[in-house]
Amino acid sequence: MSKLVIVGSVAFDAIETPFGKTDKILGGAATYIGLSASQFNVDSAIVSITGGDFPQEYLDLLLNKGIDLSGIEIVKEGKTFFWSGRYHNDMNSRDTLVTELNTLADFNPIVPENYRDAEIVMLGNLHPLVQQSVLDQMTTKPKLVVLDTMNFWMDCALEDLHNVIKNVDIITINDEEARQLTGEYSLVVAARKIHNMGPKYVVIKKGEHGALLFHNDNVFYAPALPLEEVFDPTGAGDTFAGGFAGYIAKTGDTSFENMKNAVIYGSTLASFCVERFGTERIQDLSKEEVHQRLLQFKELTQFEIKLT
Ligand code: AMP
Repeated sequence: MSKLVIVGSVAFDAIETPFGKTDKILGGAATYIGLSASQFNVDSAIVSITGGDFPQEYLDLLLNKGIDLSGIEIVKEGKTFFWSGRYHNDMNSRDTLVTELNTLADFNPIVPENYRDAEIVMLGNLHPLVQQSVLDQMTTKPKLVVLDTMNFWMDCALEDLHNVIKNVDIITINDEEARQLTGEYSLVVAARKIHNMGPKYVVIKKGEHGALLFHNDNVFYAPALPLEEVFDPTGAGDTFAGGFAGYIAKTGDTSFENMKNAVIYGSTLASFCVERFGTERIQDLSKEEVHQRLLQFKELTQFEIKLT
C-alpha cells in the first residue's frame, strides 16, 4: 500500500440549498478528500491550517479515520477558513456568498518528515504556489501527483497554475473550468490541450452527468448514479478526487485500466456525498453500503449487445 499526502483546506462551511440551510459545519476540500480516501484504509496525511476556533471534535473525527494530522498547523489566535455558498434550484450551479481566508491567507504548508516520500500526492484546490510548495518538499519523486483546481485560480493566478500543472500527472477539473483553461468548447479538444500542458491524464467532472477520463487518444466515461435524493453537492468533486486517489494508493497500480476503476470508486463515493448536507453522509459510510452501490453502478453501465 502506498502513502497518500493530501493538501487542501480544512474549513467551516455554511450551505444553503433549496432543501435547507446549515450553520457553520465541517467543510474544506482536504476534509472531503481525506474522509473519502479513508474508505481504503490507506496511510494518509492532511497538510493544512486551522485557527484555534476549530473544534477538537472535528479533528477527532478525522483522526478516528486513521488520517495523520501532524501536518495541520493550528494557529491558536487565528480563525479557520470560512466559506459559504447558496445553490440554485438546478443544484448544478451555486453562488459563493462568503470566502474568509483567515489563517489560509498565510498558509505555508509543511509536509511531515515521514510523508515526504509518499508515492501518491493529492493537491486539493488551493493557490497553485501552495500546491507547488508541497511538491518541492517531496524527497522522492511521487508515483502519481493529482491536482484539483478551480476557475478562481485561473482568474487570479494563471501563470502559477500553468507552472504547477506542468509537474502533475493528473488534473481533475469540471467541464466549465476545462473550457476556461483551454478556450475550447469541445471537451475532447480541451483534454488534448491540457495534455500538452503536462498532465498525462485528464479527468473532467460533469457533476450529475458523470466524469470523463482522458489519456492520449483513450477516453473512459463513467456516468453519475441517478439518485433519488440530492441534498447538497458541496464537496462532491473533492470526494470524487479522494476516492480516486485513495483507490490508486491502495492498489499501487497507475495503469489506465486501473484508473478506470478509480473513476468508478470516485463516482460512487461522490454519489453518497450529495445525499446529505456537508460531510454527514460520508463520515459514517460502511464498506457494505459502498459495495452495494458499486454493484448498482455495474448494473447501470453493463450491457451485452449482438451486432447484427
Ligand atoms: P467543491 O464543492 O468540491 O467545490 O468543494 C467545496 C469545498 O471547498 C468547501 O468545503 C469549501 O470549504 C472549500 N473551498 C471553497 N472555496 C475555496 C477556496 N478558495 N480555497 C480552498 N477551499 C475552498
